[in-house]
Amino acid sequence: MTDPIAEIIACVRQEQRVYLLEHECKAILKDIGVPTTSWLVAKSEDEAVSMSGAIGYPVALKILSPEIIHKSDAGGVKLNVGRGEVRGAYNELISRFNDRHVVGVSVQEMAEPGLEVIVGATRDATFGPVLMFGLGGVFVEVLKDVAFRAIPVTEGDAQEMMEEIEGYQLLQGYRGQSADMASLRDILLKVSDLVTAYPDIKEVDLNPVFAYAQGSLVVDARMIMAPPQSPPTLGGRFDAAPQTDLTAVFEPRSVAVVGASATPNKAGFNILHNLLTLGYEGEVYPVNLKADEILGLKAYPAVDQIPHQVDTAIIATPSRAAVDVMRDCARKGVKAVIIISSGFSEGSEEGRRLEDEVMAIARQAGIRVVGPNTTGILNGENRFTSSFLPIVKLPPSGNVAFIAQTGLFLGVSFEHILSSQHFGISKVAGLGNKADVDDADVLEYLAGDAQTEVVAMYIEGLGDGRRFLKVAREIAREKPLVVFKAGATEAGAEAALSHTASLAGRAEVFEAACKQAGILRVRSFEEMLDAVKAFAFLPLPSGNRVAVIHYTGAGCVIAADACQQEGLELAEFSPTTVEALREITPAWHRVRNPVDLWPAIERNWVETAYRVAIEALLGDEGVGALVVNLFAVPGWETYTPDFDLLRASGKPVLFCIEGNEDRVREAVAKIEGQGFPVYSQVNRAVFALSYLSKQARLVQSERGNEAMRNLCS
Ligand code: ADP
Ligand code: MG
Repeated sequence: MTDPIAEIIACVRQEQRVYLLEHECKAILKDIGVPTTSWLVAKSEDEAVSMSGAIGYPVALKILSPEIIHKSDAGGVKLNVGRGEVRGAYNELISRFNDRHVVGVSVQEMAEPGLEVIVGATRDATFGPVLMFGLGGVFVEVLKDVAFRAIPVTEGDAQEMMEEIEGYQLLQGYRGQSADMASLRDILLKVSDLVTAYPDIKEVDLNPVFAYAQGSLVVDARMIMAPPQSPPTLGGRFDAAPQTDLTAVFEPRSVAVVGASATPNKAGFNILHNLLTLGYEGEVYPVNLKADEILGLKAYPAVDQIPHQVDTAIIATPSRAAVDVMRDCARKGVKAVIIISSGFSEGSEEGRRLEDEVMAIARQAGIRVVGPNTTGILNGENRFTSSFLPIVKLPPSGNVAFIAQTGLFLGVSFEHILSSQHFGISKVAGLGNKADVDDADVLEYLAGDAQTEVVAMYIEGLGDGRRFLKVAREIAREKPLVVFKAGATEAGAEAALSHTASLAGRAEVFEAACKQAGILRVRSFEEMLDAVKAFAFLPLPSGNRVAVIHYTGAGCVIAADACQQEGLELAEFSPTTVEALREITPAWHRVRNPVDLWPAIERNWVETAYRVAIEALLGDEGVGALVVNLFAVPGWETYTPDFDLLRASGKPVLFCIEGNEDRVREAVAKIEGQGFPVYSQVNRAVFALSYLSKQARLVQSERGNEAMRNLCS
C-alpha cells in the first residue's frame, strides 16, 4: 500500500527542499480529510485557461516556486481572475518571477469570504510538537491572539484553544457571521495527528482557513521540513535514564560525606554538622584523606574503604576530584550520589566535560545523581539533608514538598519559609545542574510518597518537557502541583519560516502545557507560598461559591473585586442565613455578601458578631468556602475562632488579619498553628482560595472522565 503523504515528503527530501509547496500541502490535507479550495497546477498559458474553465470562474492564480515562501508579499497571488483575464494574469506572474525557479501556477477556486483563522503546528525544543490556533490576518500578525497546546490534543483541548483566544466572541457570531466550531475542531485534531505521524514535517501553517456558518475551508497551506537526518530529538544529554527509583536519594539508611571537614563554615563541615545536630536517623561516615576522626566520628580515606553498607554519598570535594570519588562510589555499590560541588557544566566547557565523565561512571554503575551544584535534598521524616548551609532547626514534618532548580533553595529561600510559615514540609529537592535526577524524576517519586500531599516547584528550564508533562499530569490530579516558572519573558525560537513557529515563544508554550497537565501556575515566590499554604492546611471546596466577612465596607468592595478577578462567585445566602445575620445587624443595615460586619460588631461586640456570622455562613449549603477578615489592634481582643467548628464544617476557611504588626504575628501563629491559613491582604486570601477551587475543578473533571471511561468500558 502506498502512502501518498510519505511519497510527497520523499520527493521534497530528494529535491533537498526546505518546505512543501502549497499544492503539495493541499494534497496532504486532502488525504487526511481536511477540506481545501480545489486546485490544479498549470505549466502553460493554455493549461491555465482550460483549468480555469474546469474549476469555474472567477479563479485565484498563485505562483508555485521553492524560492517564494510568502507568495502575496512577493506579488505572486492574483485573486478574482475572470474569464478572459487568465492569460494576462498567468503571463504577468511568469514574467515577474522569470529569474526564479518556477514549478507552475496554481489555479484555484475562489473561496467565498469567511472568518479568517490560522491553524498551525511547530516543534518546541522542550515540549516537542505543539498546535496553534488563532484568528487570521491582523489578529495573528499584530495582536498575536493565539492559543497553544502540546500535541497530541484531545477534543477538549481543541475546544479550549478556541475559547481561550480574545477573539472567541467573533467566532461565536458577530454581525451575522459565525464559525462552525465543530469543523475547526476537526481540523485542529487532524493537524495534531498529522505532525504526530510525520516527524519530517516540522512546521505547519494553514493560513488562512476560512470558517463559515457551516464548514471550513483551507485557503492557503505551508509546511516546513525538519532538517534531514536529525528528526527533532527530545530529552536531555542522557537519553536512557536509569530506571532505579529515588529511594536512596531521599531515604538513605547510611551516608558518606566525602570532603567532610572539621573546619567550621566549610561545606564539608556544615553537611556533617547538619546531619548530626538535626538528628538524621541513619549512619554517617565522614570521608577525608587526611583525618582519622571528624566531629567525633571515625573518618575514612575513601568511600570504598568504609567497611559498612553505604546507600548514599554526598560529594563536597572540589569538582576535579569528583571523577575519582564517583569511581570509588561505583566500586562500593553506592546507590545515590548528591554532588554539592560546583565547577561543572554551569560554568565552563571543561566543567561540562567533567560532568559528562562523572555521569558516565554513574550510569554504568546505576547510581542516581542529584546535582551537581546544589544544596540537594531534605527529608523531614528521617531528618536527612545534604545542605551545606547551616540549618539550625528543621521545619515540622508535614505534607508540602518543594522541588527547586536553584542550588541555594535549602539556604536562603528555605530560611524564609521556615521563619515565616507554619505548614510542615515533607521533602525538598534542589536539583542544581540536573545532570541526572530532574523535575520529572522527583515528581514521580513524590507521587508515591505517602507524606507528600502538595508539591511546589520552581523551574527555570526543563530538559525533557514531554516526560515532565506526562508525569505532571498524573500527579496533579492527586496532589496539587503549584509551579513558579521564571525566565518566562524569554523570546521565542530563532528566525522561523512559519507564522506558527515565530509565535511559539517559550512562555506561551509553557503556559499552554501547564494548562493541559493541570499544573497551577503562579507568578512569584510569594504567590507560590500563598497557594501552597492553602493546600497544605485546607480541604478543597465543593464549589465555586464563597462567602466573605469583613469588618469594613471598603474591605467588602475590595474582596468582591478580587473574587470577580479570580473567577470566584459570591454565594447567595439562604433565608436562614439572612435571618441569622439580621438578628445581629441593626435594622438600617443591609445584609449581603460580602458581609460588612462592623454594624454588628458595634451592636454585639466582636465575639458575638463573628461567632454568629461564621456559624451562619458555614451552615449555609450554598457557601462552598469562607474568607474571614479579622483585625488585631491594641485595646481590642483579637477574635479567636472556634477551630473545632471550622474543622467540623469540612469547608475551607481562610483568614486575613490586618492591624498592629506584633499582634498580627501573634494571631497568625495561633490560627495557623490550628491549621488555618492567614493572609495579610484579602485579595491574597481570595487568590489562594481560587487555586483551591481550580484544583477542585480539576479533580472533579478527572472524576468525570473516569466515570465516562467506566461507562464506556
Ligand atoms: P501567502 O500567504 O503565501 O501570501 P495566500 O495563498 O495566503 O498567500 O494568499 C494571500 C491571501 O489571498 C489570503 O490570505 C486570502 O485572503 C487570499 N486568497 C488566497 N487564495 C484564495 C482563494 N483561493 N480564495 C479566496 N481568497 C484567497
Ligand atoms: Mg497565506
